[in-house]
Amino acid sequence: MPASPIVTRFAPSPTGGLHLGHAHSALFGWLAARQAGGQFLLRLEDIDPVRCRPEFAEGILEDLAWLGLTWDGPVRRQSEHMEDYARALGRLDEMSLLYPCFCTRKDIQEEIARAGHAPHGPDGPLYPGLCRALPRAEADARMAAGEPYALRLDMHAAIAAAGPLTWHDRGKGEIVATPEIFGDVVLARKDVPTSYHLAVTVDDYLQGITLVTRGEDLFEATHIHRLLQALLGLHVPDWHHHRLLTDETGRRFAKRDKSLTLQALRESGKTPAEVQAMAGFVATG
Ligand code: GLU
Repeated sequence: MPASPIVTRFAPSPTGGLHLGHAHSALFGWLAARQAGGQFLLRLEDIDPVRCRPEFAEGILEDLAWLGLTWDGPVRRQSEHMEDYARALGRLDEMSLLYPCFCTRKDIQEEIARAGHAPHGPDGPLYPGLCRALPRAEADARMAAGEPYALRLDMHAAIAAAGPLTWHDRGKGEIVATPEIFGDVVLARKDVPTSYHLAVTVDDYLQGITLVTRGEDLFEATHIHRLLQALLGLHVPDWHHHRLLTDETGRRFAKRDKSLTLQALRESGKTPAEVQAMAGFVATG
């Protein structure tokens, strides 16, 4: 049987300009696809209407084209696909795996202080579960009254429904999924009817991604994505989490490093090949 074609993607959030760390990530996914004769897709993760701006989105497309990266097919913009995420939430709701959470940050902090301890996960203290026990009638009444709410995944119930899971990272091998380290994650935010975890999982499936390439800062998030795939019955890709590019002092590149945005480097006279080399890739030809 022929090996399935490689389809990778680069999925930046248009909340600022691309920097060298993004260039590394984009080149990593692009090369993985091109070297295998596969496809490289582009997705703009623009679900946050406050932080994402159209001018950043346009700048990202320009920067990538300048760097010499070509992508296949149309760009997928998450803000145009809210109905896909709503459908996935509907499936999880039918399985009784979601509950509305009305808590404010302050409610959560106060509950953690009251309890005197809070288990920590990769994203900080775990949600202490205040709204998990709300009687359904009370939750329904509060929703009907227009009180803002997020939708959280009941993690214990979700793991029980999915059973034990593993996933495969091309750098690290077979990984046992431990989504419980995140607790009851938010799958739909109060201000946006989806979340990073839900949208990325649905989109990787809908775009036919077979190899998810991204930085190792998102390694642990994959536990959640693998769980959501199992619950939603989605195809399971491979992953390759790459190292994070750091500056000479060992610090990760971030949006604050304005001098190392691709736009600034381009304006300072650097060539695409030079920037590819700075991003850790030796240009070929
Ligand atoms: N949008 C995410 C970011 O810019 C990347 C998501 C992913 O590659 O899974 O950090």
